[in-house]
Amino acid sequence: MIKAPYLEINISKLYDNTKKVVDIFGVKGIEVTGITKVVLGEPRIALCLISAGVNSVGDSRIENIIRMREDNINAKFILIRTPSVSEAHYIVRYADISFNTELSVIRELANAAIKQDTIHDIVLMVEMGDLREGILQHDLDKIIGKVIKMKGVRLVGLGTNLACFGGIRPTRKNMDQFSFLAEKFEKKYNMKFRMISGGNSANFDWLFANKDIGRVNNIRLGESIFIGRETLSRKHIEGMHLDAITLVGEVIESKFKDSLPEGEIGQDAFGKTPLFEDKGKMLRAIVGLGRQDVSVDGLTPLIPVDIIGSSSDHLILDATRFPLSVGGHVKFRLNYAALLSCMTSPFVARKFI
Ligand SMILES: *Cc1c(COP(=O)(O)O)cnc(C)c1O
Repeated sequence: MIKAPYLEINISKLYDNTKKVVDIFGVKGIEVTGITKVVLGEPRIALCLISAGVNSVGDSRIENIIRMREDNINAKFILIRTPSVSEAHYIVRYADISFNTELSVIRELANAAIKQDTIHDIVLMVEMGDLREGILQHDLDKIIGKVIKMKGVRLVGLGTNLACFGGIRPTRKNMDQFSFLAEKFEKKYNMKFRMISGGNSANFDWLFANKDIGRVNNIRLGESIFIGRETLSRKHIEGMHLDAITLVGEVIESKFKDSLPEGEIGQDAFGKTPLFEDKGKMLRAIVGLGRQDVSVDGLTPLIPVDIIGSSSDHLILDATRFPLSVGGHVKFRLNYAALLSCMTSPFVARKFI
């Protein structure tokens, strides 16, 4: 028997979700890059995304890309975080394409590629208002001009990323401007961009609202595939599973206790002064699951119990409405932060079904 806590990863639901987004974007001629960073490049999941039709696999960490390659996953791999100078050599060796914003990094990639006797493909990320990574629009011309003269690297496209840091929505206006830039520089430099990568799981509203999606021909999707929601308002995408990946914890104590702690109140384990409502006696179940395993705020129990609170290793539930006994398992739905934290915790096992 698998030891709890564990993530239950339903491969056929993940396949359905992936197929669905590939179809939704495919109708408008946009190919999907499946983003595996939240699952740390888990090879079985990468395989599932590939068999459901993603055009390529993207990850923010070269370690995850190496993991997939070493597991003989056959795909086009894209490093979606701008590389650091110190890893340039690995990026060229293991990634087919990398997203870039800094000339000094691109020079390092070019040098590494020349040493490895290869050519490394790059996409330039453009700042369209979200203020995370991206080349300012008025610097783009100068940088493209320099990059296309470099040996060792080949410019294959432009990308943009919205709604990640500044929360800026992809709209007709900023997306049209992005397409306009792509066209402008194709004309100016007499070349064709292979990849015009227009965003992430925040681009569903934009896609549904606009017939004309401009020059965008690629989208990078992670959260929508794994969680089943778009990311601007976390709306459920019709037809997608919300429970492709769930977390299972085990009850380690279940007792009727007061709802109000007894004694003088000081700080709790995390420096907060807790406040409780007196609800009389309740059935309190403790699940052996805590902040070392998961970002607790992102958990939703799939049975009618309420989360009262948590510490490093304990999750306390009000199980009065749904009595739980020791040894019983409780299943939770996860948001993105919770999934990320479980995937990076050494204490959470994985079960594939
Ligand atoms: C994480 C990431 C994505 C995927 O975002 P989701 O919201 O998970 O779809 C796309 N592009 C970049 C640059 C990212 O860092």
